[in-house]
Amino acid sequence: MTVNENIFRPFLKELKEYVPGKSINDVAREHGLMPSDIIKLGSNENVLGPSPLAMESIKSLADRSNLYPSMHQKELRQKIAKFIGLGYSSENIMVGAGMDGVLDTLARILIEPGNEVVIPIPTFTYYELACRYYGAEVLYVMRDANYEIDFNALIESINPATKMVFICSPNNPTGNTLNQEHLKEFLTHIHHDFICFVDEAYYDFSTEGSVVDLVQDFPNLIVGRTFSKVYGLAGLRVGYAVADPAIVRQYYMAATPFAVNRLAEKAAEAALDDNLFIMKSIMMVQKGRTYLKEKILFPTYPSQANFILMNTAPLKGSFVAGELLKKGIILRDCQSFPYLGDTFIRITVGTPEQNQRLAEEINEMYSGALKR
Ligand SMILES: *Cc1c(COP(=O)(O)O)cnc(C)c1O
Repeated sequence: MTVNENIFRPFLKELKEYVPGKSINDVAREHGLMPSDIIKLGSNENVLGPSPLAMESIKSLADRSNLYPSMHQKELRQKIAKFIGLGYSSENIMVGAGMDGVLDTLARILIEPGNEVVIPIPTFTYYELACRYYGAEVLYVMRDANYEIDFNALIESINPATKMVFICSPNNPTGNTLNQEHLKEFLTHIHHDFICFVDEAYYDFSTEGSVVDLVQDFPNLIVGRTFSKVYGLAGLRVGYAVADPAIVRQYYMAATPFAVNRLAEKAAEAALDDNLFIMKSIMMVQKGRTYLKEKILFPTYPSQANFILMNTAPLKGSFVAGELLKKGIILRDCQSFPYLGDTFIRITVGTPEQNQRLAEEINEMYSGALKR
C-alpha cells in the first residue's frame, strides 16, 4: 500500500524540482573513485573550507545544543547591521535558514494565487519555486546576448498583478552584475506596489559594489545575502536580507520560530569577524577566475563571482560535465537553467592546484572536439 497521490496539492505535479550540484560521495560511488581524489567545483562553495573562527565558535557551543536558539536572531542581526554600516540597524535585517529560507518566508508573507513574479533569465531557479508554492504566475524576461538585464522589457512586464521582481547580481550562472543606474531608474519609474529582491549572494567577490545603500531610498527594495559562499557555511544554512523595517516586522510575524539553529547563528556571528579568511578567499577567487578565463580554450564569460560560465559548443554541456566527472571533477551542467541552452557549464573557481588540473582536463576535451 502506498499513499494516494491525490492527497497532494495538484499543482505540485507541474513543478520542476530544484536541481542541486552533485555530491562527492555520489560521484565516488558512481565512478569507483576515492572521495579524496574528487574535486567539487559544482556548487560555488568555498573550496578553502569553513571560516575557522566559525568552527571554533561551534565547538565551544556544541554542549548547549539542548537549548532553543534565540527567536529572532537579535545578536546576529545587530552584528550584520554593524557590518553593513550605512546607518542600518537590526530592524533592517531579517535572517533565515539560508537565503533560500529568507525567500520562503518572504513568499509566505507576499504571494497569493494570481500574483505575478517577474524574473530576468537565465538565473538562479529557486526564486520561481519559492513563489510558485504560494500560487504565483512566473513571467520570464530574457536577458540580452551578454546576459545583461533588458530593463525596457522588464518595465513592460510589470503590471498591477506584479508582486515581486528577482534580480541576481552577480548573476548565477552568468557572473555579470547589475547596472546600478538602471536599477535606480527602474525603481523610480514604476509606481505599482511590488517588491524588488536583489540577490547579492556573490557580492563579496565582486569589484563592482553593492546596491544595499539603495534600500534607504527605495522601501520596496530588498537585498539578500548569504553565509553559504565566501564564509564557507553552506552546510549550516544562514542567510539574511536588508529591508525596510516594516517588511522585517511582517517577516518575523510569519517566520518559522527557531528556523535558524543555535550553532548556525553563532557561527555566522563569528564568521563576520573572520577578516583574514574572508580576504584570503576573495583574493584566491579573483586571481583564480582570471587564470581560468585566460587558460580555458572554450569561450568563457567575464565574472564577478566565484564561478565562471563556459560555453562548450559544439559539445553538449552534459557530455563535457559527464566526461570530467569520470575523472573526478564535479562541475555544474547548466541545462536546468531556463533559456541558457544545453552547451553551458558553470565552474566554481578552485584552489590554484585545482584550477590547473581542471584547465588541463577541459583543454584536452577542447582539442579532442576539434579533431573530430
Ligand atoms: C547560493 C545561492 C543562494 C543562497 O543560498 P543559501 O545557501 O540558501 O543561503 C542564493 N542565491 C544564489 C544566486 C545562490 O547562488
